[in-house]
Amino acid sequence: MTSKTILDPMNSATIDIEPAVGRASLTHRPRRLRRSEGIRAMVRETIVRPDDLIYPLFAVPDNRPKVEIGAMPGVWQLRAREVVEEAKRAADKGIRAILLFGIPEYKDAIGSSSWDPSGPVQAATEGIKKALPGMTVMTDVCMCEYTDHGHCGVIVDRKGTKDVDNDQTLALLVKQSLSFANAGADFVAPSDMMDGRIGAIRRALDDRGMTDIGIMAYSAKFASGFYGPFREAAESAPQFGDRRTYQMDPANAREALREMQLDAEEGADMIMVKPALSYLDLIRVARENFNLPIAAYNVSGEYSMVKAAAKLGWIDGPRVMNEILTSIKRAGADLIITYHAVEFAETYKG
Ligand SMILES: [Zn+2]
Repeated sequence: MTSKTILDPMNSATIDIEPAVGRASLTHRPRRLRRSEGIRAMVRETIVRPDDLIYPLFAVPDNRPKVEIGAMPGVWQLRAREVVEEAKRAADKGIRAILLFGIPEYKDAIGSSSWDPSGPVQAATEGIKKALPGMTVMTDVCMCEYTDHGHCGVIVDRKGTKDVDNDQTLALLVKQSLSFANAGADFVAPSDMMDGRIGAIRRALDDRGMTDIGIMAYSAKFASGFYGPFREAAESAPQFGDRRTYQMDPANAREALREMQLDAEEGADMIMVKPALSYLDLIRVARENFNLPIAAYNVSGEYSMVKAAAKLGWIDGPRVMNEILTSIKRAGADLIITYHAVEFAETYKG
């Protein structure tokens, strides 16, 4: 029998092998499907498209400057007209949905600036719908950007312990949602994690004939360290305590399923898992348990870590971005809210 000499990679010496060794007995060779990019593309199971992505933007009042967020390179606080310009740029690249956050002109204990019809989110919504009628505008609904204490609802003092009052907060979330809907939002997206808010908002919209306005519910939203950079972007850091009495404990999966069930029962059109990367298992749980579209929020900290490591030359940023977005979709998300949206769309080959 003839033998062949190859280089042994372990010791750089040459060794002799028999040519047929290990071949005849192999029935399965999965590597056949990886031989070329053509074959790999043919059998690729998960493909992220720009249509899957929702692009978050931060709107500030007109009297403030346009500012880049320090910990989120490429993400800016924009005035309403600049939000519209950025939405146009995103649309040109193939992005078809925007999620708006607002930084108001003034803050108070109940976040009353959030339902000011001339507020930054309302102005940006009106501007986008006028310039780009086909763009889907979603508006984040929460009190933390609008309250002087930075919490997501009304603060009450119970025997010396301050906490967010659930039921008083519902009325404020409803006012804010109606104001965004009146400005032209296609979806309102409550992120506060109060009990019963999806039902309260749905009823209020329906009572006013706004049955077409959808609700994307931040259903399983965890009290996460990954939100750090966002608080700079949205200027929403709590002035005391933390959000653990309303946002979920990162350890809890069954509770996440329960939160998603309640939001679905209350009339949510889409349910969301936030953050995405450390919660891929829950995206899968959502996919397996609901027939609603599942959204996942690729949050600020996830974005910033990629940007920082890429800047240091430690990772290949675009490659890691692609891998992260693919993993979120593979886990079961239909929609991904991501600051990478335009960057991804620019490199998308269709
Ligand atoms: Zn909030």
